[in-house]
Amino acid sequence: MKDIIIVGGGLAGLTAGMYSKRAGLDTLLFEKMFTGGQASTTNMIENYPGFDDPISGPDFAMKIENHARKFGLEIQYDEIISLELEGDIKKVFIENKEYQAKAVILAMGAEPKKLGLDREDEFRGRGVSYCATCDGAFYRDKDVAVIGGGDTAAEDAMFLAQYANKVYLVHRRDTLRATRILADRVVASKKIEKVWDSTVEAILGEDHVTGIRVVNVKTGEKRVINLDGIFIAIGVRPNSELIKGIITMSEAGYVLTNDSMETNIPGVFAAGDLRQKPLLQLITAAADGAIAAYSAQKYIIEAFGE
Ligand SMILES: Cc1cc2nc3c(=O)[nH]c(=O)nc-3n(C[C@H](O)[C@H](O)[C@H](O)COP(=O)(O)OP(=O)(O)OC[C@H]3O[C@@H](n4cnc5c(N)ncnc54)[C@H](O)[C@@H]3O)c2cc1C
Repeated sequence: MKDIIIVGGGLAGLTAGMYSKRAGLDTLLFEKMFTGGQASTTNMIENYPGFDDPISGPDFAMKIENHARKFGLEIQYDEIISLELEGDIKKVFIENKEYQAKAVILAMGAEPKKLGLDREDEFRGRGVSYCATCDGAFYRDKDVAVIGGGDTAAEDAMFLAQYANKVYLVHRRDTLRATRILADRVVASKKIEKVWDSTVEAILGEDHVTGIRVVNVKTGEKRVINLDGIFIAIGVRPNSELIKGIITMSEAGYVLTNDSMETNIPGVFAAGDLRQKPLLQLITAAADGAIAAYSAQKYIIEAFGE
């Protein structure tokens, strides 16, 4: 049996792992895809203290993972498909195997929201993407659209403008929600055509995306834009399906914790974007991870006398 099992290898999980290993606890972290989580899908991080030069998401993730591994964190690349969290011994399950721990830290983070359009899933990987950093290079000299108006949409539009022939930024309002510095860059870019007050009504194409149909929400006017790819950046939703009905969460599916990252079940903690909090960022994910590990350590001492 492990002391702590961490579910999710984003910044919250990796930081929790680093802190708990450094505290001498036998810790195992499960990651279903790649460490770094959402951070690995961004091309530039420029607001994490200590990194005064912008750093790419994958480089940042690699640094954090290396740091955690220096303390001996064990990382296993498997998806946790169910959990039994009541009682002193917590059980987590991958497809064919059960693992046990005294405490569990939930750090499954969040993932991009979908537009919810017909054929969106069918076109995923064939012109529809949720990660400009991952897929942008495939669209060199092509026309693409970014859908959204927040920081991610603004960053994606700027990033894609380096490769693409033309970038359409489709936003349902007439100003961007993005941080001022990012919004100003987008507005100033001649390569980015701003399609204000508009939503995407349909994704067009046969085997691959060839265009989108947008509708102006003020005038009702429709327009077909011919393009090769669309990048959807309309926000994220928490990865909390796995713990629905087990862990108390908000209506939107974010886990409710106290300041010690404790959930409604003793010995179960939550950290990072999975958790209901005012600011979903790397710095708060790291802080949550550290607190969750500290609280788990305290819980193990109290509950198991170790
Ligand atoms: C495009 C983009 C750009 C961003 N830019 C910035 C920025 O510049 N600065 C900033 O501060 N923040 C930025 N953010 C936000 C930041 O990335 C998140 O706040 C942070 O990554 C949250 O970390 P996390 O560990 O809580 O979750 P995540 O990063 O979402 O990581 C969760 C991990 O859990 C794994 N997982 C989920 N379910 C399971 C399971 N069942 N079994 C095993 N593993 C599982 C996932 O694969 C994932 O790796 C950005 C986000 C995006 C999407």
